Amino acid sequence: MDKTALKYERMRKEMVENQIISRGITDPKVIAAMLKVPRHLFVSDALMDQAYGDFPLPIGEQQTISQPYIVAEMTQALNLNEEDRVLEIGTGSGYQAAVIAEIVYRVYTIERIHSLYIRARAIFDSLQYHNIVTRYSDGTLGWAAESPFDAIIVTAGAPVIPDILISQLAKGGRLVIPVGNQNTQELIRLYRDEKGIHQTNLGGCRFVKLIGEQGWKE
Ligand code: SAM
Repeated sequence: MDKTALKYERMRKEMVENQIISRGITDPKVIAAMLKVPRHLFVSDALMDQAYGDFPLPIGEQQTISQPYIVAEMTQALNLNEEDRVLEIGTGSGYQAAVIAEIVYRVYTIERIHSLYIRARAIFDSLQYHNIVTRYSDGTLGWAAESPFDAIIVTAGAPVIPDILISQLAKGGRLVIPVGNQNTQELIRLYRDEKGIHQTNLGGCRFVKLIGEQGWKE
């Protein structure tokens, strides 16, 4: 490994120890994935040295790559297994999809901003994430042709949980989504079994808007 890669590996290890494990993330699959995915390669060259900081960063188009802790918290809440097929809405930088792709069989990810979709696809290809399928469209409508999904993660803030996403969850499926107004949201975890839908509130969070037919209007 060259000097630069070693430097970022050290920063990644510190991030996982100080921001992820020390704040209570325990799922070994999530910890291993976050130790592995090179977060600095999902941001612009100018921001690489800040990539392992305890904050979100801009990725262009007024969008952000989420803070490492929230990525870990949402991934853990999905309760992932290696044979799972997972839908992500809001590809953004591609980092969250890559973390999930380290754990599961296949990730389907949708982005509504064309330049971000193209950029993320190029990063997935260069890092050889062959199990990530990308799509440029309105994710509030889900991905009917590939449904049902074992887990669905929405990485932008929704006014309400789109019913269509619940309908694309398999039995035993989990959905994690920030829901609230345009400034703050609650992170909701929904679980679907034969008895119905069960919801838990994981606490406050702050995301950019989910814009689309079943989200906020532009
Ligand atoms: N998961 C991303 C990452 O790891 O970098 C962070 C995503 S960023 C906080 C939210 C993303 O959701 C933005 O890229 C935004 O364009 C996208 N988005 C918002 N509404 C969407 C929609 N209806 N369908 C797909 N993507 C959407």
